[in-house]
Amino acid sequence: MTAALKQNLHKKLLLWYRQKARDLPWRRTKDPYRIWVSEIMLQQTQVATVIPYYKKWLRKFPDIKTLAQAPQSEVLEAWAGLGYYRRARMLHAGAMQILETRAGKLPETAKELQHLPGIGRYTAAAIASIAFHEPTAVLDGNVIRILTRLFAIKDDISNPKTVAGLWQQAQELITDESPGDFNQAMMELGATVCLPQNPDCNACPVNRFCESRKRGCVDQLPFNAKKEKSENLKTFALVCRHKNSVLLRQQPENGRWGGLWMFPHWADKKAMLKESGLTLKALEKLMTVRHAFTRYRVNLEVYACGTTQRLSTVFQNGSSRWIPLDEIRSFGLPAPHQ
Ligand code: SF4
Repeated sequence: MTAALKQNLHKKLLLWYRQKARDLPWRRTKDPYRIWVSEIMLQQTQVATVIPYYKKWLRKFPDIKTLAQAPQSEVLEAWAGLGYYRRARMLHAGAMQILETRAGKLPETAKELQHLPGIGRYTAAAIASIAFHEPTAVLDGNVIRILTRLFAIKDDISNPKTVAGLWQQAQELITDESPGDFNQAMMELGATVCLPQNPDCNACPVNRFCESRKRGCVDQLPFNAKKEKSENLKTFALVCRHKNSVLLRQQPENGRWGGLWMFPHWADKKAMLKESGLTLKALEKLMTVRHAFTRYRVNLEVYACGTTQRLSTVFQNGSSRWIPLDEIRSFGLPAPHQ
């Protein structure tokens, strides 16, 4: 990349970002804690979904100290519905670590930030550049798409060597001038213009320099030899009611939904009948909830059982609790179970 090209790309992207960027709550602050929260919430989650959670979270935990001192149940309750709950536990653990070892002050460099739980290279670079103006590049799916198209890079992005090269390429574009805004310009371009399908090249601020556009191969990039296919999964949940309460189970601490409350659920119907001690006749099909996580598309079939008397005692033991319906909002339930 020539110095002139680099300068042009930089100038065009910054100008476009300052004129066109969406007005998002975390772009109105320079508070490192708030930027950290937003970056964690935005991992694998759409901006529109994050906004209400971000606002609610900051009302409840306005700073690192408040978050660090909150019980985990409150942290999970505030996150409930946002998915990928490990993020909430890591954020909480990170806040506790910062309060204990750094008097509540977030580290200021990408290198140090990566020592905190749940902060990888991308998130560390995003926080360090936006909150502390460190000239360090970000690289995620959006940025990979832009770079491979902009420079017509046809190498397989499932190959770590290609990704290493792209990190280097992204870093070459960063300068001391507003590195945080520049990184956000790349994120914004990937999220709103250089989309995976049907990119709006006419509206792109750097279309003059885009090699794949010139060569007519935009829709072939990025090339991923190992593109994962999505898989369909069926799961089964049981809503057991007794007077005005429902039976929920708290999930084991180290699992995917660790610490959250869910209706008893199984990977197959036979297991549901066996463990509950019920027959299919005693159940009423309530609904099917569809949701997706990572590469799975899940159909959650929900059944209600009319009587609780027949439930096996084993089924009701351990982590299960009868929760009155008017208290259920204070328990953290993941979105499909809500
Ligand atoms: Fe992406 Fe099109 Fe812009 Fe190239 S011109 S970077 S393909 S939006």
